[in-house]
Amino acid sequence: MGQEITASGESAAADTTFEAGCIFCSIVRGTIPATVVRKSGRTLAFRDIAPQAPAHLLVIPTTHAFANAAELAVGDPALAAELLREAGAVAAAEGLAEDGYRLVFNTGDYAGQTVDHVHLHVLGGEALGRFGVPE
Ligand code: 5GP
Ligand code: ZN
Repeated sequence: MGQEITASGESAAADTTFEAGCIFCSIVRGTIPATVVRKSGRTLAFRDIAPQAPAHLLVIPTTHAFANAAELAVGDPALAAELLREAGAVAAAEGLAEDGYRLVFNTGDYAGQTVDHVHLHVLGGEALGRFGVPE
């Protein structure tokens, strides 16, 4: 699902912050293309460029203001809830809800977080292995 479109034209909310050099801020602005599958008032969902499962999507707030899930939950609980709600909606739209799926917030180096703009991974499409095993 989802066409190859960009998020350009998105009108930034007053509380939206952008960070130069942040790949996800560039996707929000539309200067880097992404396969966007869903938008809500303050979130964007798009396909991960390097999928780790048959279905792998990312749901992000449009603001750069929070680096990880804990910061988001403390700083803007309503936005944290919106992100989770959107992840559920994306999973349902992708046909993942019946068989199940995994939501992941990587936080920090040991978890392999590479983008310091909070993002929720939605993974599914097949039975997933266990996680937490060191590489
Ligand atoms: P993290 O490792 O920080 O939890 O997740 C970052 C995710 O962003 C990775 O799964 C990576 O594949 C994805 N990613 C990095 N650059 C891009 C990009 O330019 N476009 C898209 N769609 N995903 C990206
Ligand atoms: Zn950002």
